[in-house]
Amino acid sequence: MNLHEYQARALLQAAGIPVPDGDVAATPAEAEAIAKRFGGGVVVKAQVHAGGRGKAGGVKLAKDAAEARAHAEKILGMTIKGLTVEKVLVVPTADIASESYVGVILDRASQRPVLMVSPAGGIDIEEVAATTPGKIMKLGVDPRFGLLPHQAMQLGFFLYDELPQVRAAAAIMRQLYDAFVRAGGSLAEINPLITTPDGAVLALDAKIVVDDNELDRRPGIAALRDTASENPAEVKAREAGLTFIKLDGSVGCCVNGAGLAMATMDLVKYYGGEPANFLDIGGSSNPEKVVVALEIITADPRVKAILFNIFGGITRCDDVANGIVTATGRTKLAVPIVIRLTGTNEELAVKILERAGFSALTDMDEAVKRAVELAGRAA
Ligand code: GDP
Ligand code: MN
Repeated sequence: MNLHEYQARALLQAAGIPVPDGDVAATPAEAEAIAKRFGGGVVVKAQVHAGGRGKAGGVKLAKDAAEARAHAEKILGMTIKGLTVEKVLVVPTADIASESYVGVILDRASQRPVLMVSPAGGIDIEEVAATTPGKIMKLGVDPRFGLLPHQAMQLGFFLYDELPQVRAAAAIMRQLYDAFVRAGGSLAEINPLITTPDGAVLALDAKIVVDDNELDRRPGIAALRDTASENPAEVKAREAGLTFIKLDGSVGCCVNGAGLAMATMDLVKYYGGEPANFLDIGGSSNPEKVVVALEIITADPRVKAILFNIFGGITRCDDVANGIVTATGRTKLAVPIVIRLTGTNEELAVKILERAGFSALTDMDEAVKRAVELAGRAA
């Protein structure tokens, strides 16, 4: 789950990190009022779950409240990476002497949180990693002890020469690590961490991504979810208990079980196709889940063929068949569908499908090949 910048900065602030004042507005008038309250120049910042807002025109400096209102008028309602901006954060402008990057990520390879810092901040850290990897320092943290003071100092010296700034940055990194752990994060970053001309060190931007598996035991964090600014298909899938990840291909996949879903996507690629999504309808699929799954898949205009791949165990093939018949009875399919079912109640499922005018296959290779071919023919 992604947090908005204004939510992430509140968590950083709660951990003791110096963050400039700021407030959120949903209308240009609110943005103007906030700017007036702060007096002087402000920055108006789009609140969307996307990086690179600055480059996309979603971060604008205003010299006064009237200009803040004008910027808010432009930024509110704009789309950045397919997401509509519903809110802006208004913060007093900071004077920047230097911009660095500080982040914590959960690193699967080393199986621990890794602190990543760079004196080349403000820009995409991926770009720094690709062009000047020497400007990034990484340090694995033992989760039993957390980020130790001497480790934080070592990272601080990679960013700054002045001891007071090294100390300030070290304190911020330890607080950032704590905020990351407390939020159940998979990522927490400050980009840029700035120094001001008078030597203060401040967090000017904040990003936290929370591991969904941590939400059940963190109701306070879970309450921060803003479904209005998430991908509608992913929201719908989550609410129906489906595991869905949107991809860019043309073969819409509906599968039971994560392992089989992965194998299906592999096979789609093996036969020259591209999956449009990962979708696991789960173990005990009732027909209603299948209906929602089909609605999600067919709402994607890129989908040129639909592939059902069901291995009936706990999942009953007849439940899936009933779901397909119900869904296609409500709205007629505009693209061809290939159904492969095998296992529990397979014979019954085939009867249900045939009565509704569908045919079903039992061989996975054959089904995948056919779906790829149909999708290719439509393209
Ligand atoms: P991002 O593009 O989504 O990462 O948004 P940021 O909040 O990081 O802002 C992008 C860039 O805008 C920063 O790296 C700064 O260079 C600039 N910026 C943001 N806030 C301020 C500010 O208060 N003062 C100044 N001078 N520049 C700012
Ligand atoms: Mn940033």
